[in-house]
Amino acid sequence: MNKAKRQAVIAGNWKMNKTAAEAAELINELIPEVSGADCGVVICTPFTDLPVAVSKTAGTNIKVGAQNVHFEKSGAFTGEISADMLTELGVEYVVIGHSERRQYFGETDVTVNKRVTAALAAGLKVILCVGESKTEREQGITAELVALQTKIALIGVSEADLANVIIAYEPVWAIGTGLTATAEQAEDVCKGIREVIASLYSNSAAEALTIQYGGSMNAKNADELLAMPNIDGGLIGGASLKAPDFGAIVKAASK
Ligand code: PEP
Repeated sequence: MNKAKRQAVIAGNWKMNKTAAEAAELINELIPEVSGADCGVVICTPFTDLPVAVSKTAGTNIKVGAQNVHFEKSGAFTGEISADMLTELGVEYVVIGHSERRQYFGETDVTVNKRVTAALAAGLKVILCVGESKTEREQGITAELVALQTKIALIGVSEADLANVIIAYEPVWAIGTGLTATAEQAEDVCKGIREVIASLYSNSAAEALTIQYGGSMNAKNADELLAMPNIDGGLIGGASLKAPDFGAIVKAASK
């Protein structure tokens, strides 16, 4: 299976932006921008926006995701949200292991793995984020680090369940900074991730896996990044909050 046979997916990570009323407005603007897309389109909104996002996107080609999920089914975990709570709302995707969660909320490779397995068991599709910091890149350990993050995150995930996983390579130094990895740097790491998946599972699992790049992807640089053989889509932060910009990236992925 080559790139043309994999599903390109463009996912917006809204982070902690947009009240429910603002979310409704943005979705109204997004629907016409992405309606002709020849790729998957996902918006990952704050928890409080999920009900309005699910109802507003019903009958459109936009799928809805959350930005985190707890690994326990229920119980004394104040402030947390379970996978069943998300699926009951009609949420289909969840971002797990975003670098901001690793940096500010104590997320580790081990808790990422717990969240991944809990989310998959509940029937959610996972967007698993991996990536190195600036220091780690300068130390020359990007490939090893990303391989390890990927391997730990997928402990206990079967090849059948891997079909519901997208891996997003997000160099931490490129997130929200305006600095983008060059297309070659991004391709290099995404290719490495595919090789890790081949070694853990099989060549066919690796070839079928959708791998996104994330980190200041925008309407201007999307074409070049998405042209790379191992980059099948994007996880988009800042540019996902502007309907024309997100629409332009979706169009670039639809070519
Ligand atoms: C992100 O939040 O995952 C992201 C890639 O952000 P940005 O596009 O703003 O760099």
